[in-house]
Amino acid sequence: MPDCCIVGGGVIGLSIARELARRGRSVSVVSRNTLRKSASWAAGGIFPAQPRDTITDRNGTPIERLTQYSDRLHEQWTKSLLEETGIDNGFRRCGSLAVATTEEAASQLQADEQKWKRLRVKHESLSPTDISDIEPALRGAVATRQVRRAFYLPDETQVRPPRHLAALRSACLTNGVEIFDSHHVRNFEFDSSRIVAINIEDRDSTLLPICADQFCIAAGAWSEQLLQKLDIKLPTKPWRGQILLHKVKPGMLRHIINFGSGFDYMIPRDDGHLLIGSTIEDVGFDSSTTPSALSRMNKLAYDLLPDVRAQEPISSWAGLRPGSPDGLPTVGRIPSADNAWLATGHYRSGFHLSTGTAHLISDSMCGSPTEMQLDLFSTDRAGLNGSAQPTK
Ligand SMILES: Cc1cc2nc3c(=O)[nH]c(=O)nc-3n(C[C@H](O)[C@H](O)[C@H](O)COP(=O)(O)OP(=O)(O)OC[C@H]3O[C@@H](n4cnc5c(N)ncnc54)[C@H](O)[C@@H]3O)c2cc1C
Repeated sequence: MPDCCIVGGGVIGLSIARELARRGRSVSVVSRNTLRKSASWAAGGIFPAQPRDTITDRNGTPIERLTQYSDRLHEQWTKSLLEETGIDNGFRRCGSLAVATTEEAASQLQADEQKWKRLRVKHESLSPTDISDIEPALRGAVATRQVRRAFYLPDETQVRPPRHLAALRSACLTNGVEIFDSHHVRNFEFDSSRIVAINIEDRDSTLLPICADQFCIAAGAWSEQLLQKLDIKLPTKPWRGQILLHKVKPGMLRHIINFGSGFDYMIPRDDGHLLIGSTIEDVGFDSSTTPSALSRMNKLAYDLLPDVRAQEPISSWAGLRPGSPDGLPTVGRIPSADNAWLATGHYRSGFHLSTGTAHLISDSMCGSPTEMQLDLFSTDRAGLNGSAQPTK
């Protein structure tokens, strides 16, 4: 019987499994779908620029502290994952440009600037000449005044989600983690206030128990259904995000481009892949792409980057982000069971927050002190009774 069983094999479940295994725990991961169907595989992999000074509870919010804690851990994880698995997860401090192409986006950038100043995130307002020097691909858009305002954030980072997931999976297997794919967790077996087993349904619809000493639910957008079986009411709404993929000359675009509207971006990879995202749609568990969204995102790139105009996109996909009523993740103990934990609701930042979440959950499961107080992200925190609409 393993010490720990993790339900969910996305970036959150795999990161927790890897961290527990590194601490000497025997771990099983049970996942319903293949990785390609998770939000994690679909992610863009942007890690917004963080302040170089440490955020404390005096100058930042709990989520800002968790983000910085996670961001710093990513550097170490990237190094150790490469050493353990030989897989380069694409972690690069490539920097970004926050650009405004509309008046509305320009005023959003002003609000963003206030936040960067408050947190002391390194940023620089760019003149039209600066924009063309730093990002020559935007020279045409600057000349035609399509780009009205831009800031440079040198510390913004990217990671390649499918590669990071492959590295996590490989590291888990090397550390003895057992991974059960295509197994749907249906319910839980209790002995008094402890979960003794989860019942999984395999491909032949046979129900099998998996016993463990401790359990953690990390089932992303599907967590709500499972938690209901544990008498926990936690709205975890799926928010669909679509992404379009082009292939351009490597180096054609040097930085991540974030549009001041908040949700749209372009991410250039080292090998010339160019991701254009995204949407935020409330369409239930439908993870298909739509022609209207893909054509809007294509236009975004066509308008700014002449080199993309000559090309057809090479692929597209969508994933379901796990939302939460107050936009915060829920990370901590499950009140209705003595030996169960929960890590879900990471919405637009699950990749970024995965390392900090893994450390907090592993500390708690191993009975060690946690870097941050878990009640900030608990199921009974203030704010969870609000609407199911996450904030930006
Ligand atoms: C288009 C898009 C772009 C994004 N961009 C970014 C970004 O740039 N930066 C960033 O940090 N984040 C980004 N995100 C958000 C990030 O991807 C998510 O927050 C994160 O992947 C959530 O991870 P998860 O492990 O909780 O969920 P998932 O990756 O969805 O994994 C959940 C897992 O639970 C399993 N599961 C569910 N129910 C059951 C069950 N009953 N039994 C067994 N297994 C079950 C599923 O099969 C799946 O493996 C993006 C998301 C999308 C969709």
